[in-house]
Amino acid sequence: MKASAFDYARPASVREALELLGRHGDAAKLIAGGQSLVPALNLRLLAPEILIDLGGLADLRGITVEGATVRIGAMTRHADLLGSPVIAEKLPLVAAAMPHIAHPAIRNRGTIGGNLAHADPASELPAVMQAIDAVIVVRDASGERRIAARDFFTGIYETALRDGEMIVAVEAPVAAKDERIFFHEFSRRSGDYAIVGLAARATGSGNALADLRLAYFSVGDKATLAERAAAVLGAGPVDATRLAAAQAALAEDLSPQDDQQASGSTRLHLSRVVLARAIAVLTGDASLAGRATA
Ligand SMILES: Cc1cc2nc3c(=O)[nH]c(=O)nc-3n(C[C@H](O)[C@H](O)[C@H](O)COP(=O)(O)OP(=O)(O)OC[C@H]3O[C@@H](n4cnc5c(N)ncnc54)[C@H](O)[C@@H]3O)c2cc1C
Repeated sequence: MKASAFDYARPASVREALELLGRHGDAAKLIAGGQSLVPALNLRLLAPEILIDLGGLADLRGITVEGATVRIGAMTRHADLLGSPVIAEKLPLVAAAMPHIAHPAIRNRGTIGGNLAHADPASELPAVMQAIDAVIVVRDASGERRIAARDFFTGIYETALRDGEMIVAVEAPVAAKDERIFFHEFSRRSGDYAIVGLAARATGSGNALADLRLAYFSVGDKATLAERAAAVLGAGPVDATRLAAAQAALAEDLSPQDDQQASGSTRLHLSRVVLARAIAVLTGDASLAGRATA
């Protein structure tokens, strides 16, 4: 199928893009890399009257470090993040996730802003953004709003973006010197969306984990922080008993869905398996890796 007819605008500034978005309202759709939007247009799941192409907004593309904060423009492409020494050094969890996102051709066009606005529950970046405590910077014609990543994703393909708003950047704190990270996803083939994935980070030393954040994706209708499990693991030195309690707590933290890829119970099991692997890596205690509960 082909997309239905639409008008096309290529604004030269964010101000002009927002003016167009405000003027056309629901009839307009922003297009960034087009890697999610164009298939939806071609399948006629969407039929906007006008596409507003953000491709000409060079000031929305780039990675800068401002003090203890890394700022990533919304039009920064996945390939830019993957190849960036700044991201590798300052946001290692983002760097660890990038090779898992789609394939090179898609990473060459897809953008961080488009990815986060699309809010696919199986996507890696919404979880990573929550794990690193990022802020999504959004703007409309009247000004700017900053939304914590944990509050940004509200449901399947749904976000806290309001009518007339667009993402302009993402900001994240530079990783602490003693930060430890873990990223893993179960997927059928390399480049496929995950069946279950976990992005995790902590500070501390040995089996004492501080500031632990466990962000799951593809388990439920949006990327989710497993706060009960993290609280159990942060309450004292991690051992097999504490890990088992955290694995049990995932049943309350997560709402895994049944779909054609896996049942909810399989997803919950895999969530527990990947938690054990994460904790083994974060603590350096390899004996914890194989501890999956029934
Ligand atoms: C075969 C295939 C495999 C893929 N595999 C993965 C994968 O494994 N993991 C993964 O995470 N993704 C995957 N993707 C999706 C890819 O990461 C896309 O790049 C991403 O989801 C959308 O980014 P985009 O820049 O192309 O956005 P677009 O497709 O241009 O836009 C997506 C949505 O975001 C809106 N939007 C775009 N920019 C903004 C903005 N600045 N502010 C507000 N709204 C905006 C658009 O209006 C649209 O609704 C895959 C895509 C394909 C085609």
